[in-house]
Parts: sequence; structure tokens; C-alpha cells
Amino acid sequence: MKLAIIGAGPGGLYAALAAAKKNIQVDLFEKRKVGEGIVCGECIFDSLGIMARPGRGLLRPVDEIVLRGRGDFTFPLSRHRKLWMLDRRIWQQELAHIAASRGVVIHENKKITKACLRQMQKEYDWILDAGGAPSITSRLYQFSGDYFREYLLAHQLVLAGDFSALMPRIKVAFFSDLPSVFQPAYYWIFPKDAGRANVGMICTVRGALSKERPDLKKLMADVLRAEGLADATVMEKGSGVATSRMLPRLVHDNIILVGDAAGLTSALHGGGIDMACLSGVLAVSAVSEGQIGMAGYEENLKQYMKEKNALEKVTIRKMRTLSFDQFDDLLRGVTSRSKFVRLKTGLRHLNMLYTTMKWFGTKKEIPDWPV
Ligand SMILES: Cc1cc2nc3c(=O)[nH]c(=O)nc-3n(C[C@H](O)[C@H](O)[C@H](O)COP(=O)(O)OP(=O)(O)OC[C@H]3O[C@@H](n4cnc5c(N)ncnc54)[C@H](O)[C@@H]3O)c2cc1C
Repeated sequence: MKLAIIGAGPGGLYAALAAAKKNIQVDLFEKRKVGEGIVCGECIFDSLGIMARPGRGLLRPVDEIVLRGRGDFTFPLSRHRKLWMLDRRIWQQELAHIAASRGVVIHENKKITKACLRQMQKEYDWILDAGGAPSITSRLYQFSGDYFREYLLAHQLVLAGDFSALMPRIKVAFFSDLPSVFQPAYYWIFPKDAGRANVGMICTVRGALSKERPDLKKLMADVLRAEGLADATVMEKGSGVATSRMLPRLVHDNIILVGDAAGLTSALHGGGIDMACLSGVLAVSAVSEGQIGMAGYEENLKQYMKEKNALEKVTIRKMRTLSFDQFDDLLRGVTSRSKFVRLKTGLRHLNMLYTTMKWFGTKKEIPDWPV
């Protein structure tokens, strides 16, 4: 079997590693050099408990998140769901290095165009499009609009400043005055070390043509002032979108969508690294089983994501319907050190308690996890 993969992001690299493990012949095409041009908070939230601890590129495991509503609340990460701060450039370069050592042929600075893709459809048995959103496949098959029905708009700066007080934790802060239509919306401060951090923000937008959206750059200036970071040095800036709904169709002839190209980022927090890796691995399992596997790819993904999506849906509804004071109260309750207070909060939000227990209680093994 000949397999082509578009994009050396997490989805493409995990797919390449999974394919190499099955001795499938792989060509991986990346429009830049591997690890270049990344705009990301660089924090992996292993939301299904499936990922192995990253090797090279890992900066540190994160054990606590500071959640800011009206007050600051410390949320300890459970041992079942891990969070890691990364240098994504180094992490991806290392994954590419491992893939190459296992026989994957990596073509850097090779941008796949619509014409290339048409030609590749004849030359390869299967093509995995892990090129992010909107994908080149969507341009060929004319469904780019599917990425913008509901999505998260993000803006991020890499800052040099003093982050020693927050280290080794990370901070996620919710906006008290953004209308519910933009929720989920929050900003993050993810220190890479005591002197550098990714500082970004995200809000929900519905409809590509919607003019109704917050000015994230202006909001960023307000956040930097409020956080005492107005004098920090901006080292990099970038913006991006994350489609927060799985696309209605993931297979187009012999092309399979993976990761952001499949619309797999979390509608709650915009994280998508773990889902990109998962979908890359599942897409390879599917192609290796031929048509029978392909039919199951979408369903298989949905099964893995079921409990996580249910909890996220309930949480998003809370963010849209509760007043900020009620939301702050919920944050205080779920982060309380007292089991009794946590239980009392859970009983006041029974659907959240139920979906959280289902999410924590479900452990899904992935056959053939590559690294
Ligand atoms: C500001 C921001 C912050 C984020 N922070 C986090 C975070 O902290 N944690 C988290 O889990 N997620 C985060 N995300 C989401 C995360 O970045 C994505 O979900 C994840 O990168 C998806 O991986 P992927 O492999 O599907 O696509 P990508 O990482 O986008 O990789 C796609 C690759 O394909 C290449 N490519 C694109 N088109 C072509 C083409 N035509 N030909 C060849 N190559 C091509 C690109 O150069 C790129 O290398 C963030 C997103 C944004 C916008």
C-alpha cells in the first residue's frame, strides 16, 4: 500500500509513525520545514488519557491550573488526565526524526496544491489530509465553508517577561463581560519558563460572515494591562481558527481528513493536539483494514470522543446560561479542597457531575499507539 500524508503537524506525524509501525510505505509532505510556523499555547491536555508522556520537547508536566473567574481558584490535575507544557517545535522535529528513522520519506517545503492533490489521488492508495483548517481537500471538494459554521477565533503573543510567580502552573481566565454568544471565551498564560510565556485568547464565533465578534487585539491590550504585562516584550504574534465541530464527512474518495482538517479541536477550550494524534492513528488503522475499516473511521472517532464531548457540551451550556457570578460560584465549588463542597456543587449541577464521572470512568485503549 502507498500512503501519502499532507502536513507534519501532530496529526500527520502520529499518522506517519503509526503507518511506519505497520510497515506501510509513507510519503509525508510539509509545506514548511518541520516545526516551523507554529502558533499554539503548546500545552497538551491529554483529554482521553491516551497519550504517552512526550519525550524531547517536553518542558514540564503541569500539575495545577489557576482558573480565574472573579477570584483565583487552583485546580489540581488528576492522575487520570495529564497536561504537559511543550516546546512544540522540538517535539515535532523529534517525532519527524523518529518517523524518518523508521522509513517515512519526509518532503519539506513541499506545498500540496489542488492540482498536486488530484495527481496524488492517482498515485497513492490513500491520502491522509492533516494539513489543518481549512484543508486543501476542502478547496478541491468545495466544502471550506464547513470549517466556519462555528469556530474558535484565537490570538496569541509569545512574551518575554517575569512569569516566575505563576510557574510551574498555567493560568486560564474567563471574561466577565463578554456576551454569552461568544462563549466559551477565555485567555491563557502558559509560561514556557520563568522568563517566557504564550499569552493568548480565544472566543467562539458562529458563521463565517458574522461581523459580530470581539476585537481580540484590543482585548489583549486590556489583558496585558490587567496582568501587569504591558511592558513585556512581544517576541512573536499570531492568530488562528479552530473548528470546533467534527465535519459532516471525513472521507472523500481516497482522502481521509485528520486532526484540525477534520474539525476535531475542543469546542470548550480549543485544544486539539491530542485529537489530532488520535485521529492520525485511527485513520491509519482504518486504511490498513481497507474499505471495512474506512466505513468505521468516523464512527470509531465518535466513540472515542463520546464522553469528552458530552462533558464539554454541558460545560459550554453552563458558560452560556449562568451569570458570571453563578459561574464563579461553580468554579469555586469544583476547585474546593473540601470533598463535601465539591459534592454539594456536583449535586447542584447534576448533569455536570454525571458527565464528569462518565468521562473519568471511561478508559479507552488504543491498539498500536505509535510512541
Ligand atoms: C492560538 C492557538 C493556540 C492553540 N493552543 C493549543 C494548545 O495549547 N493545546 C492544544 O492541544 N491545541 C492548541 N491549539 C490547537 C492546535 O494547534 C491544533 O489543534 C493542532 O495543531 C492540530 O494539529 P494538526 O496536525 O491537525 O494540524 P496543524 O498542527 O495545523 O498542522 C498542519 C501542518 O500541515 C502543514 N500544511 C498545511 N497545508 C499544507 C499543504 N497544502 N501542503 C503541505 N503541508 C501543509 C502546515 O504547515 C502544518 O505543519 C491552538 C490553536 C491556536 C490557533
